[in-house]
Amino acid sequence: MTEISLKDISKVFKTVKVTALTDVSLEVEKGEFFCLVGPSGCGKSTILRIISGLEKPSSGEVQAPKEISMVFQSGALLPWMNVEENISFVCKANGMSDLKAEEQTTKYLRMVDLEGFRYRYPRELSGGQRQRVGIARALAIEPTVLLLDEPFSALDPITTDELHTYLLKIWKETQKTIVMVSHMLEEAILLSNRIGIMKKGEIKQIMEIKLKRPRSQGSNEFLKTLEEVKKVLIG
Ligand code: ADP
Ligand code: MG
Repeated sequence: MTEISLKDISKVFKTVKVTALTDVSLEVEKGEFFCLVGPSGCGKSTILRIISGLEKPSSGEVQAPKEISMVFQSGALLPWMNVEENISFVCKANGMSDLKAEEQTTKYLRMVDLEGFRYRYPRELSGGQRQRVGIARALAIEPTVLLLDEPFSALDPITTDELHTYLLKIWKETQKTIVMVSHMLEEAILLSNRIGIMKKGEIKQIMEIKLKRPRSQGSNEFLKTLEEVKKVLIG
């Protein structure tokens, strides 16, 4: 079943005369883990913003569920609220009762192993922990689709590995549709069912990643896939 459908999407930012996207078409299946890759400025974030409804396309058709959560690179936690408040506040803003908001907060803090950190403030957390709170918060409103915009690019490699494990666990447990943007090809190959390879506002190729899970970055098949993706990006 198709969860998200983009048909011939173009986006022009008239004020700066930039064409960010040209005729982008894409269908993401329910429960799929889809990754958009490509160099900085190629239009990845613009696609996510169009899927989320934050941005309107200049032309083309978008179909996506309304219940969408987005996770940003920074985690975007409110510094004056503790971990619990950061999550429950978003739940309440989405119409949940105090009790339901508390239940959701506990459920998803448990999922990212941060129950013991409920009363900490963002400044008292590591970058990886902050991002785990950001993911818990995004899930707490029970979105149909989870969008992630380079969520791990500010983290060190070891923390990034750890967060990949969390994300895969969450994907398996919740069976959410995930669309993630990354500029790290290895990350995209490690996580996704399919990769959309972008260049200058276009999706050049959509590649299915058939590697068995759990995937290992050192395997021959993995490196072969990496070479194939690179070839599309360079060619
Ligand atoms: P990516 O996420 O792949 O780095 P973006 O989608 O952020 O790329 O940007 C694609 C292009 O659109 C870039 O040239 C960027 O400068 C431009 N752009 C993005 N958002 C805006 C905006 N709100 N106003 C003007 N130009 C924008
Ligand atoms: Mg971006």
